[in-house]
Amino acid sequence: MMAMNGDYLKHIDRLIEQRPASRPALISYGDLARLMVQPEPTLGAKIPEQANWEFRKKEGFPFFAREGLPVDFASASTLLSRFFEYLRKTDREDREALSKALKRSEKDLQWNDRLLKAILKQDETALNVMAAEVALDPSVLLFLGKTALRPSLIALRHMMESRMDEKKWDNGYCPLCGSQPDMACFTKKGKRRLHCELCGQEWTFARIGCPFCNERAQESLGYLEAETEEGFRVYCCQSCQRYLKTIDGRAFEEVAPLDLECLATLHLDLIAQNNGFK
Ligand SMILES: [Zn+2]
Ligand SMILES: [Zn+2]
Repeated sequence: MMAMNGDYLKHIDRLIEQRPASRPALISYGDLARLMVQPEPTLGAKIPEQANWEFRKKEGFPFFAREGLPVDFASASTLLSRFFEYLRKTDREDREALSKALKRSEKDLQWNDRLLKAILKQDETALNVMAAEVALDPSVLLFLGKTALRPSLIALRHMMESRMDEKKWDNGYCPLCGSQPDMACFTKKGKRRLHCELCGQEWTFARIGCPFCNERAQESLGYLEAETEEGFRVYCCQSCQRYLKTIDGRAFEEVAPLDLECLATLHLDLIAQNNGFK
């Protein structure tokens, strides 16, 4: 698997070692990453020619709409069942709900597909209904579904690399799929890169300003920090009450892939949420 190669797993091990607070989240994510050993998802024939993207891009349209992303649902669905199967045998408190989810998906072969599509559509009602059917926390179901989609999305990102010319893209949402960022990073050269919460695409955005509502006024923008931790900030916007976790690459020898940095900084989400940001 391209994404879950040795380097990726090594980053997970390094973060677990260097940042003890991230242990629980990363250990279980590492287990899931090791389950992603099926053949590459097949996307090839499905990539549409978007010859007019250059034009649409100027109007702020991402290449794909989330619900139109060409993902391999069959392979994502197989992976999702594999996650349920694995996790129900652990000592997690929700293992019975995960067993239920596995049974549900075996009985109704479209169940996983419906879940994956609800996630792409950001259909919260459908997600909540499905979570309730198996008594699982909707945020767990969302996380597992997104993780199951990841190999497809990584393959898509690789295929799109040459076409994702970032010039003239200065929006706070993803140029590939239109989703919002869940993490940001200052590079060694001081550029701000945003990381897409769904497909993992990264793109450069203005150093100052809120990517969610485009607020640029200094007095509306601020940040929170964890006291004992250098190199991390949570940028907050008073205008829209959103926050963005940010790692400063200049403070670290090495920055892990940002989806891992995002998982390794769940304590920063708590700090932001305790301060009333969402
Ligand atoms: Zn994206
Ligand atoms: Zn804002």
